[in-house]
Amino acid sequence: MSMYDSIILGAGPAGITASIYAARKKMNFLVLTENIGGQTLWSADVENYTGYQMLTGPELTERFKDHLDNYDINVIEGVKAEKVEKKRNVFEVTIKSGEVYKAKTVIVATGRIPRRLGIKGEGKYVGKGLAYCATCDAPLYADAEVAVVGGGNSALDATLQLVKIAKKIHLIDRAPSLIADDLMVEKALQSGKVTVYNNAQVKEIQGDQFVSGIVIDADGKEKKIPVEGIFVEIGSIPASQMVPDVKKEKNGEVFVDCSCRTSVSGIYGAGAVTTVIAKQIIVACGEGAKAALSVFDYINTHKDSDFEE
Ligand SMILES: Cc1cc2nc3c(=O)[nH]c(=O)nc-3n(C[C@H](O)[C@H](O)[C@H](O)COP(=O)(O)OP(=O)(O)OC[C@H]3O[C@@H](n4cnc5c(N)ncnc54)[C@H](O)[C@@H]3O)c2cc1C
Repeated sequence: MSMYDSIILGAGPAGITASIYAARKKMNFLVLTENIGGQTLWSADVENYTGYQMLTGPELTERFKDHLDNYDINVIEGVKAEKVEKKRNVFEVTIKSGEVYKAKTVIVATGRIPRRLGIKGEGKYVGKGLAYCATCDAPLYADAEVAVVGGGNSALDATLQLVKIAKKIHLIDRAPSLIADDLMVEKALQSGKVTVYNNAQVKEIQGDQFVSGIVIDADGKEKKIPVEGIFVEIGSIPASQMVPDVKKEKNGEVFVDCSCRTSVSGIYGAGAVTTVIAKQIIVACGEGAKAALSVFDYINTHKDSDFEE
């Protein structure tokens, strides 16, 4: 089995940038990822990536991909890393199908996954009217009545996408007021299509084969709203379960220092899966670059015999 200098887990902005830096340092590495683009694929408009005043998330992802394709990089897409184990100084990464890959270092750039409502019926309706990605699924709801669950920037981002497509949007927020940026809230309310329910909890998703309604408890009163689509936008959790041995925050974020080192020597973290502040594309890219450069130093300051099994 080949022994890589590094295995990069994830190909969002952090993993892609780490890959470009590792390729430019002529490292022998492998990228294992579920998809290419990560959360960037879900963003409607990106207006804060330096050098581009405005690009859609999918457009920015295309540019990232083009840049990645400039190098001869070994990427295995559509795979989920399940376990990273350290055996002496060598890491074994096991993917869902059971295959195992070995490396001297690992960069965890696995970002975040959408938080679920955790209510009955949720699993049954995923892809049948229940969605976690407005950029992917909003176009399916032309002239429909839909609900968005959440009150932060992701929920308002979804709402603003739906305003252009759907007939009516019910914005269901469990907090007393929306915490999203004022400008986004203003735009949503100005559309005249959005009704906001504060202090509201989702109780049930109704439907047969497909979603037909949502039941909420708003200020202690139960209300059934007929909708064809429900977009759950209640935040995300770090995808860090494959590295159980590294030190993490209570919420699962991987602790990293300013060189992207984790508590386990040889495992590095980059981007939104870590404790780094500001879960933003540009920050994730910077962290990916730093992680690859730190790995380069680590390899150069170890002898080949350090990695003998
Ligand atoms: C709706 C929305 C809009 C946003 N808008 C903006 C914006 O306008 N500007 C901005 O700067 N930021 C925005 N963000 C935030 C930004 O997208 C993220 O901060 C950024 O994508 C984080 O990059 P990352 O590479 O760390 O992680 P991610 O983008 O989450 O990428 C993680 C990668 O890891 C892979 N992966 C996950 N688990 C595994 C596993 N077990 N095995 C293998 N691969 C795995 C995924 O497939 C993915 O490729 C937005 C986010 C959302 C959800």
